[in-house]
Amino acid sequence: MPDLNFDGLSVDYEIVRCARKTLGVVISPNGVVVARAPFNASRADIVDFVERSKPWIFKHLARYRQVYRPRDFTSGEDIPYLGKKYKLKVISDGAGTPLALVGSRLEIHVAHDLEGAARRKAVKQIIVCWYTAQARQVLTTRLCKLACRLGICPTAVKVKHQVRRWGSCTASGVINLNWQLIMAPAEVIDYVIVHELCHLRVHGHQQEFWQCIGQYMPDYKKRRKWLRENGQALSFLLE
Ligand SMILES: [Zn+2]
Repeated sequence: MPDLNFDGLSVDYEIVRCARKTLGVVISPNGVVVARAPFNASRADIVDFVERSKPWIFKHLARYRQVYRPRDFTSGEDIPYLGKKYKLKVISDGAGTPLALVGSRLEIHVAHDLEGAARRKAVKQIIVCWYTAQARQVLTTRLCKLACRLGICPTAVKVKHQVRRWGSCTASGVINLNWQLIMAPAEVIDYVIVHELCHLRVHGHQQEFWQCIGQYMPDYKKRRKWLRENGQALSFLLE
């Protein structure tokens, strides 16, 4: 495997040849770099292309590293909820309600004898449990309001666990929403809801579909951009 060096950092990359006409580089969120090349490209050309793409590659790797940094779920970490950051405070007294938002803090009470990995797991479980319950309430309420305003009625709403999808809908008119949306700002949640509601009118993502969204939500591009740039970072509770 050839390797790349930039600013004192080094990364290996793989060369994959396939039926394509141009050279390209693909970076997975887990940090794997792959150079994709046409069958007839010379190795020297590929290496040269990757070398020239270095600043771009390392910029993206740095971003992924930041997004995917493992969390310890200990006091002081930032935890997002409805687009705001809360400082996690873990209290080992096993008392009171397991989770409470107190000002800008997200307080979690765990049993006093929990340590290390067991404590981390308990904190994470409490957050997931509370978030899914909140999501069911908040997302459903927002969807009902928006459905009324748009005059588009789903047959049912389900808040559930989905990987790599914020929302989906079925041919029978059921809208599914990902509980992890509870971490996003309210305007972004509304965008996902309006997106799915418009799908009940227009299938697919052709021009007519985006016109439908734009009619109800003229600034949808800004909201969609937020989700594209920050959405990945909201998956830390799934690790
Ligand atoms: Zn869609």
